[in-house]
Amino acid sequence: MFARQFVTWIGEIIEMRLYLNVPYEEKDEAKALGARWNAKVKKWYIDAEREKYVRFSKWILRDTDDAVIATEYIHIIEGRQKCWKCGRSTRVIGLGIGEFVHIYGETEDPQYEIVEDYVNPGEELHLAWVENEEDIPPRLLRYIKENYSVKTGYSKTIGGKCFANHCDYCGALQGNWFLFNEPDSPLSSCVDGDKLAEKMSRVKIKGIPIEDDLQLDWNIGFCSNDYAYLKYGQFEELVLSTDPENEYVTYEELYSRR
Ligand SMILES: [Zn+2]
Repeated sequence: MFARQFVTWIGEIIEMRLYLNVPYEEKDEAKALGARWNAKVKKWYIDAEREKYVRFSKWILRDTDDAVIATEYIHIIEGRQKCWKCGRSTRVIGLGIGEFVHIYGETEDPQYEIVEDYVNPGEELHLAWVENEEDIPPRLLRYIKENYSVKTGYSKTIGGKCFANHCDYCGALQGNWFLFNEPDSPLSSCVDGDKLAEKMSRVKIKGIPIEDDLQLDWNIGFCSNDYAYLKYGQFEELVLSTDPENEYVTYEELYSRR
């Protein structure tokens, strides 16, 4: 078995780990391409340069034509808004994607781009959310449920269940539409230039260092002001790893249901 490689000098190959959804009947094909089996999480994974992820697009693009693979960090973005029901100022959160590998198109002709630190002077952060809590890695889901008033509730607006923020005080569902679409959303960076710095300075960002790259089926909002979160926001690191030697949380830890 090969050890994972990290950069120690310029020019060395940097291999990262990516877990794939490989159906049982396709395991030999994945294996032939270099995938290995992790018996603990019962998943196939690859250790590969990010440029080579696209070779595995058969599995990466199985359920989507537009895959986002988060690298380095995933985020929680926290703001406050006035509850529509009780009028108090309640916390609301979104998720956030920073650097990522973007793989898209048809599986016969997949395209990719590696999005990292390309905006000077700062890295961008993109607001994200899910309607279904199953799309959040279990360890992160547990953290946000323990620390915020988020849960799956019934939304009259959409006439069904959705994962959403609820008021810290009265429990009223806050809806998800505001996350991206309302001009006075406490989390969106899509505001006029003169208000941007002041608004973003009130946003708290928790950056979670991740060991393995993560394909995440999250709804992501892109805005030209997305550099402003990390430039003006209150950033802190949130360590979900339980390994005292490594603050970067692994896939195994994130997807452990214990
Ligand atoms: Zn309330």
